[in-house]
Amino acid sequence: MRVLHVAAEVFPLVKTGGLADVVAALPVALAHAGADVRLVLPGMPQMLDAVLHAKPVIDLGACFGAARVRLLRGRMPGTQLPVYLVDAPLLYRRGGGPYQSADGAEWPDNLQRYGLLGWVAAQLGAGELDAGWRPDIVHAHDWHAALSCAYLRAHASDAVRSVYTVHNLAYQGLFPHEDSALLGLSSNFMSADGLEYHGQLSFMKAGLKFADRITTVSPTYAREIATHEFGCGLDGVIRGRGNVVSGILNGIDPEVWDPAADTAVAQRYSLDQPEGKAVCKAALQKEFGLPVDASAPLLIAISRLSSQKGLDLILSALPQWVEQGAQLVVQGAGDAALEAAFRMAAAAHPAHVAVHIGYDENRAHRLMAGGDMIVVPSRFEPCGLTQLYGLRYGTLPIVRRVGGLADTVVDAHTATLADGTATGFAFDHASAFDLGAAVLRAIAAWRDKAGWRTMMARAMAEDFSWQGPAMQYLKLYEEARHGD
Ligand code: ADP
Repeated sequence: MRVLHVAAEVFPLVKTGGLADVVAALPVALAHAGADVRLVLPGMPQMLDAVLHAKPVIDLGACFGAARVRLLRGRMPGTQLPVYLVDAPLLYRRGGGPYQSADGAEWPDNLQRYGLLGWVAAQLGAGELDAGWRPDIVHAHDWHAALSCAYLRAHASDAVRSVYTVHNLAYQGLFPHEDSALLGLSSNFMSADGLEYHGQLSFMKAGLKFADRITTVSPTYAREIATHEFGCGLDGVIRGRGNVVSGILNGIDPEVWDPAADTAVAQRYSLDQPEGKAVCKAALQKEFGLPVDASAPLLIAISRLSSQKGLDLILSALPQWVEQGAQLVVQGAGDAALEAAFRMAAAAHPAHVAVHIGYDENRAHRLMAGGDMIVVPSRFEPCGLTQLYGLRYGTLPIVRRVGGLADTVVDAHTATLADGTATGFAFDHASAFDLGAAVLRAIAAWRDKAGWRTMMARAMAEDFSWQGPAMQYLKLYEEARHGD
């Protein structure tokens, strides 16, 4: 099975969220399971710098507004995987992020940037760019890669099938309809039955309409996005594709996230040798200027600061936890008002709340190892990775019961405590009241040291590796190849 993954991000080269972690780990897991896997990525400076032995495959001349486009092929660092880079200096070689400039404005030419990525992926899929290799499956990730599904459909080739994975339905890639000619697709692709979305063009819709199979990153999110509440205006389109939509839970990279081998933490620990966790907790309290106190329950949150993540609920519920003697360490970046509010909370409760505004991988590991509990109160959550890291680090998750959070955390209540399946705490409504109640439950459970150890042991022993998900994707690829 030959599979081409198409994406805008890959860890550690370019990352704005969980998508990058998935694009780094899933292809490797598929290759371990016997698939012949390659990636195609936009030639951003970090990609061009890091990819090994990149050599030109073909010169594509001028397209999508770029004076010169070349396809390069090299190897992903740290793996054996071949990777194609779309080298279009005018479109991709610039500072800032993959979707926005350093000051947070969307790149004005994102339509061309990600139209080109999708077109190149489809051309590779159609066997037109690299005579030596042609995929059976083009697997596109999120709106940035979704146009590949439309271009493949335009090609009408039976030799290749497309799979489109929605990592987050809320980011859709909307552009002015007037710009549709820049994409070079015929006008029927631009109708309401195609990319048209309330007078605009939606890249997300290209994936949802034209992929042979659609997946999301958890079974619960797959059901949720077909509803008005979570469908972001596309639930009707998704219901229309009902029989080809499914959910496959993300895994995590057990080598990157392993408390027994983590080089970023104060002391490594494991299920059998858990003592290091207390050392990590003390080190984290010290690093963040909080009282070093083993008897204070230490909550952490590592997150983009956006309304999706529900961190405003933490701010509302906070005074109650402070009364309980709890401590909170937050690391995040994003919404300026939330950043300011967390800074103010830290200033108001210096013995209880500490905040690092910014993105920092190593520090995220230290938070994960040092915390007692991780709070993930998302309004919606396609899969969520931080609760999985929390489980693996024995930092028990407190989550809202949505999307992948509902699929991965078993709420502690009488029955699950009795049968030993409990791994965390879940609540239903996105309200400070419900979150506060769940945190108070967690603090009470944490004070029962023996019970807590049992839950930690259960959580740390769970298998969230990519092996299982990779087998599910391979099965799906087979279905896509042999289905209609
Ligand atoms: P999303 O992709 O919606 O942001 P996920 O939970 O799927 O949410 O993935 C978030 C990823 O980004 C995780 O790997 C998490 O550790 C990481 N992350 C988020 N914010 C930060 C931060 N401020 N510093 C370091 N890592 C972060």
